[in-house]
Amino acid sequence: MLRDCLLCQKTFDPERPLTEPAQIAGQLLAEEDYGDSGELCPDCLASRGRLAMMYRSDCFG
Ligand SMILES: [Zn+2]
Repeated sequence: MLRDCLLCQKTFDPERPLTEPAQIAGQLLAEEDYGDSGELCPDCLASRGRLAMMYRSDCFG
């Protein structure tokens, strides 16, 4: 079932596997830090993941 992204309101398929490392990092953060797993589209997960990889070397060093 398709969902609307919590951040950008874009429709996405939460069942589709994530492929980019940034998306996967963002997904991890959604599960462990933000508690909004399944609510964000792959694009928003990727931007979150990319930021985390840049600024949070504690997590993804
Ligand atoms: Zn989004």
